[in-house]
Amino acid sequence: MIESINLQKSFGNTQVFKDINLKIEEGDIYGLVGRSGAGKSTFLRCINGLEKYDSGSLMIDGIEVRDYYNKGIREFRKNIGMIFQHFSLMNRKTVYENIALPMECWKYNKKDIDKRVKELLELVGLEEKMNDKPKILSGGQKQRVAIARALALNPKILLCDEATSALDPKTTSSILKLLRDINEKLGITIVVVTHQMSVIREICTKVGILEHGELLTKGDVEDIFLQQPQSLINLLGEEEN
Ligand code: ATP
Ligand code: MG
Repeated sequence: MIESINLQKSFGNTQVFKDINLKIEEGDIYGLVGRSGAGKSTFLRCINGLEKYDSGSLMIDGIEVRDYYNKGIREFRKNIGMIFQHFSLMNRKTVYENIALPMECWKYNKKDIDKRVKELLELVGLEEKMNDKPKILSGGQKQRVAIARALALNPKILLCDEATSALDPKTTSSILKLLRDINEKLGITIVVVTHQMSVIREICTKVGILEHGELLTKGDVEDIFLQQPQSLINLLGEEEN
């Protein structure tokens, strides 16, 4: 579970979080939306310890993230995978090598790495591409590689920062289906930052709207679509089809 209480964070004079309170239960697919600059990426970075919060509490499975700042943040981060809009793959390495990378950093032995990479290639449906370089893959295939790499160390949480924003609607749907499968099959909690209404509709169970440094609206996606559709439409716009 991810829980934040009265979370505050500033960059110099800019206060990004005034008072963030939220609970993400294990197995949720939680959508986080908000205007550009609202602090969505910063929040994800606080969850995986890439960014420090100033005060308040941020707990992952009952453990305060701050407590890891000075001891073993690397160990802590093992439990949290992350994917991005522009994939962040290593272009000189093959698909296989990209997925193997986190395990090499943790000095897994070659046999275990090989077994795990092949499992992951099967999970994301890219067995045939394992020797290709990312450059020749489509956007959707690149995101599949990034997903496989993010899952390499068996994380409990997957953070997705605008992961489908650079993809066309059909490819977006196929990536969302993969994320849903991963959530269902592996029980991984997923936090999705997005500006796409379709993403909230298709996969999220809960949604939170970040505004003025607070999570002003939060709850089940269906309830929010019923009770406050305008708040989502204002932020995300109405999508065709
Ligand atoms: P977008 O939808 O455009 O990606 P966002 O909601 O992800 O926006 P953040 O990237 O989290 O927003 O940024 C929140 C605020 O914090 C912005 O005002 C941004 O300029 C500021 N900010 C983010 N990172 C830093 C940093 N390292 N140093 C200074 N200010 C920062
Ligand atoms: Mg962002």
